Amino acid sequence: MKIIEPHIHMVSRTTDDYQALSWAGIHTITEPSFWPGFDRRSVEGFRDYFEQLTQAEPLRAAQFGITHYSWIGLNPKEAEDINLAREVLTVIPDFLDRHNVLGIGEIGLNKNSKNELNVLEMQISIAAERNELILVHTPHLEDKLKGTRLIMDVLANESRINPWRVLIDHAEEHTVAEIKNQGFWCGLTLYPQSKCTPARAVDIVESCGSDQIWINSSADWGISDPLATLKAVEEMRKRGHTEQVIEKIFYKNPNTFLSQCAKFATPF
Ligand SMILES: [Zn+2]
Repeated sequence: MKIIEPHIHMVSRTTDDYQALSWAGIHTITEPSFWPGFDRRSVEGFRDYFEQLTQAEPLRAAQFGITHYSWIGLNPKEAEDINLAREVLTVIPDFLDRHNVLGIGEIGLNKNSKNELNVLEMQISIAAERNELILVHTPHLEDKLKGTRLIMDVLANESRINPWRVLIDHAEEHTVAEIKNQGFWCGLTLYPQSKCTPARAVDIVESCGSDQIWINSSADWGISDPLATLKAVEEMRKRGHTEQVIEKIFYKNPNTFLSQCAKFATPF
């Protein structure tokens, strides 16, 4: 069974989790930048975090035979201090140049505020200028549909962006079809308490098809499960899905999307 974990926040996880991922056969992971649960107060705080993502985590992962890639970006939760956000955007390109950074992310919207939209537009234009892959975070619950549409509008307004190079994550039943119809990739996030359960995720795959979609654990500092993808695999097997379809969702699709960045090496 080949699995790529395309969205996981390992800076918040223990070394035991790396061990568990490795034992489970998950040897390729990608880690987007995100909000640490508190607001960083200076650009140095971000710089240190981006160093951790691009230098420390790959070394920690390598001890367990895991290849670690990251995405650099400013999370929408960090967009409200607009002056600090502007300053952070000036250091992002240096990190995007690193050999193990696949693109800009996760960027997007959280509360659909004006500042969030402003920072999103600025980051999309950095991505357009540099032809970077984009990993998008969508808002939760009642803000999700509106936020997803706002994000797709901003992306559509930037003519240099090819939707096939953008993955819109944390999609749900009511957003998957629209995302795919507009030519973007979409991601489903498995969470024990909010977002998708494995059963819900498999329902979505059954109703919306197995193209243009990946499934991730998005495990972070909250209640989450770094091995959640395995549970969705089990659910698919229980329902009689073939190994080919399972491999498509958990390995081929993420590999196809991520391989659009020349820095990503196809595993195995
Ligand atoms: Zn995330």
